[in-house]
Amino acid sequence: MIKPDGVQRGLVGEVIKRFEQRGYKLVGLKMLNVERSLAEKHYADLSEKPFFGALVDYICSGPVVAMVWEGRNIVLTGRKMIGATNPQASEPGTIRGDYAIEVGRNVIHGSDSVENAQKEIALWFGENLAEWTPAAKPWIYE
Ligand code: UDP
Ligand code: MG
Repeated sequence: MIKPDGVQRGLVGEVIKRFEQRGYKLVGLKMLNVERSLAEKHYADLSEKPFFGALVDYICSGPVVAMVWEGRNIVLTGRKMIGATNPQASEPGTIRGDYAIEVGRNVIHGSDSVENAQKEIALWFGENLAEWTPAAKPWIYE
């Protein structure tokens, strides 16, 4: 999910480009203003953290772009492409390492496990995902 700062800073195309060019398949995409209740559910695991209120404010501060990407090891590789939670620790070449400075404005969210990805897809998209076979598939996978 491209967070409100990523949208405001014009990074939607850049983020999509990186996942698309890596070879991953886009199966869900939408722009929306996030209701507090959705942001609170999405980050429920962090509800006891001192930054929870500010985090929910941040996610609700403008539209986000929610996406579902599919492909081999997408959760693990996607997290690598995104970089560390704190952009100060994110390597250059990662999205946060190239475009962010502060943890509270780190441009993008990525699911941290397959289980959480499934939960988050259900929460944000329900069953509404596209089914398609990219023409380039045999040029990406052996
Ligand atoms: N966050 C924050 N302060 C912190 C830790 C996290 O504002 O000290 C925010 C940050 O935007 C982060 C989000 O909370 O992306 C969710 O935290 P998590 O630990 O799940 O990091 P992520 O999975 O996004 O790397
Ligand atoms: Mg997380």
